[in-house]
Amino acid sequence: MLDLAGIGIGPFNLSIAALLNETNELEYRFFDNKAEFAWHPGLLLPEAHMQTCYLKDLVTAVVPTSRVGFLSYLVDKKRFYRFLSTDISMISRTEFSNYMAWAASKIKNLNFNEGVRSIHYADDHFVITTEQDVYQAKNICLGTGKKPHIPEEFKAQLGTKVFHACEIMDREFDFTNKRVAVIGGGQTGADIVLNALHHYWGKPQELYWISRRPNYQPLDEATFTNEFFTPQYTECFFELPELSKKREVKAQKLASDGITSECLKQIYHYLYQHFEVNGERKWLHLLPNRTAQQLTPYNDGYAVQCYNSLNQSEEILDADYVILATGFESVLPHYLEPLKSLLHLSKDGSLQLDRHFNVQWQHQADNQIYAVNAGLSSHGIAEPQLSLMAWRSAKIINHLTGKNVFDLSETQNFIDWTLPESTQPLTLTTAV
Ligand SMILES: Cc1cc2nc3c(=O)[nH]c(=O)nc-3n(C[C@H](O)[C@H](O)[C@H](O)COP(=O)(O)OP(=O)(O)OC[C@H]3O[C@@H](n4cnc5c(N)ncnc54)[C@H](O)[C@@H]3O)c2cc1C
Repeated sequence: MLDLAGIGIGPFNLSIAALLNETNELEYRFFDNKAEFAWHPGLLLPEAHMQTCYLKDLVTAVVPTSRVGFLSYLVDKKRFYRFLSTDISMISRTEFSNYMAWAASKIKNLNFNEGVRSIHYADDHFVITTEQDVYQAKNICLGTGKKPHIPEEFKAQLGTKVFHACEIMDREFDFTNKRVAVIGGGQTGADIVLNALHHYWGKPQELYWISRRPNYQPLDEATFTNEFFTPQYTECFFELPELSKKREVKAQKLASDGITSECLKQIYHYLYQHFEVNGERKWLHLLPNRTAQQLTPYNDGYAVQCYNSLNQSEEILDADYVILATGFESVLPHYLEPLKSLLHLSKDGSLQLDRHFNVQWQHQADNQIYAVNAGLSSHGIAEPQLSLMAWRSAKIINHLTGKNVFDLSETQNFIDWTLPESTQPLTLTTAV
């Protein structure tokens, strides 16, 4: 009987396993259907960097002395000094992925090649059926990530020339002399455009970058914005009324969904050097304010029908390839089907989380279902990000053990998001 079974070994559950590995508190085992650890391998583009600092790794924020922190990785790989000389804080996604794969090789009880098919509840424990075996666990943690979001209007055309960006590194194709449309103005769209500019898939004849946003908008990385990615803000967010939570998440969109300034600069510098200085024909077409509405097969390719919200006009582009950088969405995993009637789902069918990332369900008093990457609406914008993953992992372990295995106390944030009720009303003085 396991104390905790982890479903999925992406970064978030790997972080929990890494912290469990630091203690002898619980019997655990984690499962993943992949043959080995891989971080969004279909999107591991050669020119792609992190949006977050390397110190926001699996463990450092909670156990800086851990053997599986990013700095230990650098030392183990004998490149500590050269890394420092690069003077970068946003490392490549390839390096972070390699780091996590290295960490996974050092953490025990990780079962790869063992996807979870179903989870049942049997009175006082869960029965987990994997591709290989059947396990019993008192508690589980769901960490199987999100699914690619494909807008309804494009589904009928999916195929070798129209596909979601998350598969781009898994497929064989050639953009040489082709017209390519990238739909989506977030970081993934930007990363694909940047790699296409460098002819990674051959030199396209035309490259259209379609974004619904009013411009190619930067990630908000300002000092005070970073306060949204702190435990104290997350705790405060959890207490807010529903309406305030929705308003906060909407207002903070660019703090998590913008494009890094570095990436935007790289694209701009390319345009300047190639199209201004070298005088090359301009083959990148930047199309913000456009909503791609329909894809119709046309002349061996596709007619991409867009609505330009700037002048309220219809525009049609011809493309041979259409790459959908249209993001990811949460869906209830199929392996939860046997438990579905016991879950207290929200009106839109999603999981509802309590403070300790534990799912509201019928037998919550006896057995816990934790979920990571599922709390955007309950815990705020840090939830789908790496920023607080080590803290969240520790919080889950502390809750599960009923002890302060990890000390999560902190000095006070600079911003008073709310004042404690006991605080005396401020005395306002009128300036004369
Ligand atoms: C391209 C990209 C770049 C990102 N870069 C950053 C960044 O720089 N900074 C940042 O803060 N955030 C970033 N994010 C957001 C976030 O950190 C990642 O999406 C992160 O991978 C989420 O981790 P996860 O563990 O929830 O899910 P995932 O990484 O999706 O992992 C889920 C795992 O579950 C496994 N699985 C699925 N179904 C089953 C099953 N039935 N049984 C067993 N296993 C299963 C999958 O194989 C997978 O390994 C990025 C996201 C993307 C898509």
